[in-house]
Amino acid sequence: MSLRVASLGSGSQGNSFLIETDSTCVLVDAGFSGVQLEARVDALGVCPESVDAVIVSHEHQDHVRGIGVAARRWGWPLVMNTLTHSACSGLLSGQETVIRLPVEGMSVGDLLVEPTSTCHDAADPVCMVLQQVSTDLRVGVATDLGRPTTPVRAALKDLDFLIVEANHDDRMLRSGPYPWSVKERIGGTRGHLSNRHTRELVAEIAHRRLGGILLAHLSGECNDPLLAVDCVGEGLSGTGFDGVLAAAAQETSGEKYDVAALAARTGGTVQASLFPPGEPGGPTRA
Ligand SMILES: [Zn+2]
Ligand SMILES: [Zn+2]
Repeated sequence: MSLRVASLGSGSQGNSFLIETDSTCVLVDAGFSGVQLEARVDALGVCPESVDAVIVSHEHQDHVRGIGVAARRWGWPLVMNTLTHSACSGLLSGQETVIRLPVEGMSVGDLLVEPTSTCHDAADPVCMVLQQVSTDLRVGVATDLGRPTTPVRAALKDLDFLIVEANHDDRMLRSGPYPWSVKERIGGTRGHLSNRHTRELVAEIAHRRLGGILLAHLSGECNDPLLAVDCVGEGLSGTGFDGVLAAAAQETSGEKYDVAALAARTGGTVQASLFPPGEPGGPTRA
């Protein structure tokens, strides 16, 4: 029984994560164009037709850009809560299969999906834990957190792998190119976690059995992957964590992590993947 996770790409310009078992393959979010989604799942050795569902965290473009076209082209069922569905209606023609994600969670193949509400400026945003029923291995996917509320921190406590936002460096955001109002939103309680916030979060929830932490949704303008890994890594000392710590790139699909193998490991490494330079263009609502 295997459980693998990978980023298709993550940042202000688009987010999508692959969670796959021997029998089930889902994406959390699909914030890239159809062409990009096809190329990025292909790079992970997955054909688009084999994706069983997309579980949508919230309706911001960098999470849903491709859901409509992918659902129509490849038949991907879209799993999301009612308010998120309503907020995405402009992307949908009515031909798509949409499955309501209830607050108590649901099964998708051999994955149990458990959503938790997040503090973010969207209609009904969630982070989620995906638990492989046959092994009880648990993967958390938590971006666009605003601030990690008590329920979010509780949901992320007992994981085997964590994908978590580390959006910006406080100083780079302050001195960065965004207008003041955008800086206020990004750094606000319904925006995004800074490296410092993520450091505090992992210091609370990391533990020895946690096999890996993939930092996600890094700002191309106001963060740097090595800086993020360094900062968050400081929060891990004393937690017993000795797994993989890496940062997801925006431009390309990343490494596929074998969660079962990481859970069974006796030692670990710390590494940082390269994060390409920021893309041109102004900030988008992310
Ligand atoms: Zn986002
Ligand atoms: Zn968002």
